[in-house]
Amino acid sequence: MSFSLAIVVPAYNEAQVIGSFHARLGAVLDGIDASARVVYIDDGSSDDTWPMLGAIAAQDARVEALRLSRNFGKEAAMTAGLDAVDADAVVVIDADLQDPPELIPELIARWLDGHDVVYATRAERAGETRTKKITSAAFYRLMERLSDTPLPRDTGDFRLLSRRAVEALRGLRERQRFMKGLFAWIGYRQTAVTYYRDARYAGTTKWNYWRLTNLAVEGITSFSTAPLRAATWLGVSAAALAFLYGVWVLLKALVWGDPVRGYPTLMVVILFLGGAQLLALGVIGEYVGRTYAESKRRPLYYIESRHGGLLRSADRAP
Ligand code: UDP
Ligand code: MG
Repeated sequence: MSFSLAIVVPAYNEAQVIGSFHARLGAVLDGIDASARVVYIDDGSSDDTWPMLGAIAAQDARVEALRLSRNFGKEAAMTAGLDAVDADAVVVIDADLQDPPELIPELIARWLDGHDVVYATRAERAGETRTKKITSAAFYRLMERLSDTPLPRDTGDFRLLSRRAVEALRGLRERQRFMKGLFAWIGYRQTAVTYYRDARYAGTTKWNYWRLTNLAVEGITSFSTAPLRAATWLGVSAAALAFLYGVWVLLKALVWGDPVRGYPTLMVVILFLGGAQLLALGVIGEYVGRTYAESKRRPLYYIESRHGGLLRSADRAP
């Protein structure tokens, strides 16, 4: 039995690890009975990643490397890779060795069992702070509550996709790409393989809490309209309370002839309603902004140059 396998590796400023990564990946691929290709996507790195990928491609005929015209972000880089491949099974893996390439044969075994998406689930997070563990757990719980497409927990982007799953993903060209959500959204037969996640081998993570929070907001707003609903309910309850309070004020004035006072209550009501309105506006703004970004229909990335590259299908317009 023989099949074609492609490995998609987004890399942004990974000069410190890309060499060891490829050595480990190459060793794994040597042991797999398949015609394998590796597609590296240099996401506009500012270090030596691109020349190093050139050297790797020159030494290893299985390697192709694409360089995006600037840093488009990991999600776009992964999309560029998925657009470039033409294989029966495609594995997406990080370049920083946090996703062990040695797991690939296991992913393949599950795919051969008839699964379309085999994702790798972290059993333990070595080298991550407690706060990061807690916040990510909270995020998954929130997503589970809010969204119609449940996300598998503790799952990164490390996974194997069958040909039809890749084709399904290619059809999703939205700009707000929350890949974990998209992977889940396409459906098909999905299954998990558990592994122990290592700490970053070298280099530094490109994420900080600001970027992670933004990713979380993106994940929620692109897969759920629950915040809009929440804004509606907030408005309805504020209006109902205001009405009851109005009745009470009116009665008080009629029955007891209340002398004017009540500056504090006035202030509280104004501030509360102002806050509620701003919040609801902000939520609506998030969605309007999203609609605006999508309506421009811009390409998701541009390819600047390539190394290796027998895969001319990569020239397909994004
Ligand atoms: N990455 C990328 N573009 C970016 C940021 C990251 O292609 O703008 C790549 C990076 O080189 C790595 C993977 O995405 O291969 C995961 O990045 P990182 O290790 O920083 O994220 P974490 O593992 O902390 O989620
Ligand atoms: Mg990492």
